[in-house]
Amino acid sequence: MPVRKYTYYDFTLSLCEQCLKRVDAKIVFRDEKVYMLKHCPEHGASTVLIADDVEYYKSIRNYNKPSEVPLRFNTKTHYGCPYDCGLCTDHEQHSCLTVVEITDRCNLTCPTCYACSSPTYGRHRTLEEVKKMLDAVVLNEGEPDVVQLSGGEPTIHPDFFAILDYAKTLPIKHLMLNTNGIRIAQDFDFARRLAEYQPDFEIYLQFDSFRNGVLRELRGADLTRIRDQAIEHLNKLNLSTTLVVTVQKGLNDDEMGAIIDYGLQQPCVRGVTFQPTQIAGRLDNFRPATDRITLTEVRRKILEQTPILKGEDIIPVPCNPDSLAMAYILKLDGGNFPLTRYVNPQDLLDNSKNTIVYEQDDVLKGKMIELFSTGNSVERSEENLHAILCCLPHIEAPNLTYSNLFRVIIMQFMDAHNFDVRAVKKSCVHIVDKDCRIIPFETMNLLYRDEKAVRLQELKEVYP
Ligand code: SF4
Ligand code: SF4
Repeated sequence: MPVRKYTYYDFTLSLCEQCLKRVDAKIVFRDEKVYMLKHCPEHGASTVLIADDVEYYKSIRNYNKPSEVPLRFNTKTHYGCPYDCGLCTDHEQHSCLTVVEITDRCNLTCPTCYACSSPTYGRHRTLEEVKKMLDAVVLNEGEPDVVQLSGGEPTIHPDFFAILDYAKTLPIKHLMLNTNGIRIAQDFDFARRLAEYQPDFEIYLQFDSFRNGVLRELRGADLTRIRDQAIEHLNKLNLSTTLVVTVQKGLNDDEMGAIIDYGLQQPCVRGVTFQPTQIAGRLDNFRPATDRITLTEVRRKILEQTPILKGEDIIPVPCNPDSLAMAYILKLDGGNFPLTRYVNPQDLLDNSKNTIVYEQDDVLKGKMIELFSTGNSVERSEENLHAILCCLPHIEAPNLTYSNLFRVIIMQFMDAHNFDVRAVKKSCVHIVDKDCRIIPFETMNLLYRDEKAVRLQELKEVYP
């Protein structure tokens, strides 16, 4: 009998990347890679690489656990996913991280920008609007785990500090500022004022690359000096910082190990987040046919480029395993020790037992038992050690401070090419829109942002 050239694994719904209509999609394995085969009645068939590691892709399903949902949902389920955001009653995960975009404007016009920001685009949200958006997050979440002030560039908002002051009055466990770092680099007093919002306040700093040419491609400017100056100020203030790297195949995917090594040497840096480019918004220097990179490719390249991490150290994050992978590294006495391999995956899936297990330790055993044990002499940081991403393993370690912990996170936001309705229902990074709906990051940039809403309305007429 004739035999297919692939192994059929699963079926899901996706989107046609041209018209954004919902289409059938098969997940198949071929040549040790995972592909999505789609067919749009109007625009024909397409094949999309979604992972280059079949075993990792299959292992993701073992990380599913009962969904934690928000205290309230915001919309009804009517047109079907993804046209009902949100969050509609069919969503399967609360907001682990909520982005609050306080302005459309920016002091840069990056060639890569999902929000299409620029110095003249859109407007600043008013202080009252921002307060309502923040209040909406609290109504959904009670005590939100992580709220990220974003934009555009939030630091250029005229009421920036009033917004920070208000956010700090709310029961938000961890507040982040998503910034390109220009103001932090150019104005030390500004950075010093930011540091007053610690503890539980962190800078999410656009970083991308050490290379001038890469920064010009992604950001339209040579920001190498800005990056250096920003890190110098943040180090001086020991202001917790995550480096954020937008990853584009063939452009900066060879720098990931070096960025992790660099981050480990900076006193202020608590981790690096790698985000494969989402095909959405402004993408002037991006060719979808050659420049897309998948989560598993990023994971594999990190493992190739840094000797610190091995395969078992970068694992799926259970709240949204299709899109998130992570590793913990412990910074101790000048050494860097991978920690995730000590996580028992079964404990990760049990919300009541989500803690680091350290008994199987080898060379680190003595040191770690000492540090993880109770009764202690080292002063504990005021910073909440386990606040970042609620579903990461909690670390109860009286002798450790937040600065001992370093996270490597891969955060892949699906786009119309690799969109998978099964997976998007678990999306846990959400954006508050100006009507105070809470919309998954993925669908916001495809269907809900600004002029995209026109296409969404047309699609709703297709699915009445
Ligand atoms: S992505 Fe979530 S909120 Fe949006 S339509 Fe689908 S289930 Fe509903
Ligand atoms: S990517 Fe960030 S820094 Fe660049 S234009 Fe957009 S909002 Fe501004």
